[in-house]
Amino acid sequence: MRVEDELKLGFKDVMIRPKRSTLKSRSQVSLERHYRFRNSDKEWRGVPIIAANMDTVGTFAAAQTLAQFQLLTAVHKHYQLDDWQRFLAGASDADCAGLMVSTGTSDRDFERLGAILALDARLNFICVDVANGYSEHFVEFVSRVRDAFPAHIIVAGNVVTGEMTEELLLAGADIIKVGIGPGSVCTTRIKTGVGYPQISAVIECADAAHGLNGHVISDGGCTCPGDVSKAFGAGADFVMLGGMLAGHDESGGEPIEENGRQYRQFYGMSSDTAMQKYQGGVANYRASEGKTVRVPYRGPLAATVQDILGGVRSTCTYVGAAELRELSKRTTFIRVQEQENRFFTD
Ligand code: 5GP
Repeated sequence: MRVEDELKLGFKDVMIRPKRSTLKSRSQVSLERHYRFRNSDKEWRGVPIIAANMDTVGTFAAAQTLAQFQLLTAVHKHYQLDDWQRFLAGASDADCAGLMVSTGTSDRDFERLGAILALDARLNFICVDVANGYSEHFVEFVSRVRDAFPAHIIVAGNVVTGEMTEELLLAGADIIKVGIGPGSVCTTRIKTGVGYPQISAVIECADAAHGLNGHVISDGGCTCPGDVSKAFGAGADFVMLGGMLAGHDESGGEPIEENGRQYRQFYGMSSDTAMQKYQGGVANYRASEGKTVRVPYRGPLAATVQDILGGVRSTCTYVGAAELRELSKRTTFIRVQEQENRFFTD
C-alpha cells in the first residue's frame, strides 16, 4: 500500500483569479477553437463543448440544436442502425460535423460501429467509451478501431492519469476522455472508492496529452457555467456535459408531473434504470454505478446553451482572454474553502 500525499483538486476546491484585461465586453470573446488531431490528422473547428453519450442527453434532437451553436454531440449508443439512417437522411453537413458515434468494446459493438460509419462519409468522430479505461482489452480495442478507421477522429476513455492518457494516444486515439467518478448521476466513488478529483485529473492528463500533440475532454462534474470555465482553465480542449444539458425538450427522458410541476427522468448509463432498459436487468456479477433522478423540466436547450456560453465568455473577459484558446494560459487557480453564497437557494 502507498499513499500519495499531494492534495488533488476538484471544481469546488478552486476559483479563477481575475486579471487585468483590455477587453471591454464579453461579446468580443470568441469561443471557437480549431484543432488538428494527432493520429487521424483531421481538422475540426467549433465550440468545444460536447453533449454526453447518455440516452437522456446525447439524442439526435439535441444534436440538431447544439449544431446551431457549433457544439458537439456524443450520440448515445442505443439508437438502431435505421434510426441513424433516418436521422442522416435529413441532416445537414453542419449537423454531422460534431456528431460522435459512441461504441462499447465488444465484437458486436465493433460491427455496429462499422455499419453506422458506412452509412455516411460525413461521420468523422468515434467515441470508444468504457467506465474503466485501464484494461488491456480496452487499449487493444482502441488499436483495432484505429486500424479499421485510419482517418476517423477517435475519442477514448475514461481515464484520469497521465500514463494511461499517453498509452491510449499511442494506441491510436486522438482525444482522451478524462473523468472517473465526478458525474452528477455517478456512484462509482460510493460503490468502489475509486476516483480522482476532476481539476487535477484534467491538469495532469492535459499535460501528458499535449506533450504528444493529443487532446483531452473533461468529462463529468460540471454543475454550472463556472465549472465549464474551470475545466477549460485546467487545460481541457473539450468539456463534456450530462446533467447540465438534461431535462430539456431535446433531451429525452420520461416526463413526470408532480404537484403541478414538470420534471424529466435522468439516469446514469450504468444505473439500474439503464440496465433494465437495455440489458433486461443488472447482471449478478456487477453493481449498478449510476443514479436515477428527476430534474426540473427546463424548456428548450438553446436557452441553456446560451447561458453556458455567456458564462464562459464572461470568464474570458475576467482574465483577459480574447479567445477561448488563451483561457488556460491566463488561468491562475486559487485554492479556496468557499464557493457561492447559498443564502437564497430554493
Ligand atoms: P455530468 O455532466 O452529468 O456530471 O457527467 C456526465 C458523465 O457522467 C458522462 O459523460 C459519463 O462519463 C458519466 N456517467 C454517465 N452515466 C454514468 C453512470 O451510470 N455511472 C458512472 N460512473 N458514470 C456515468
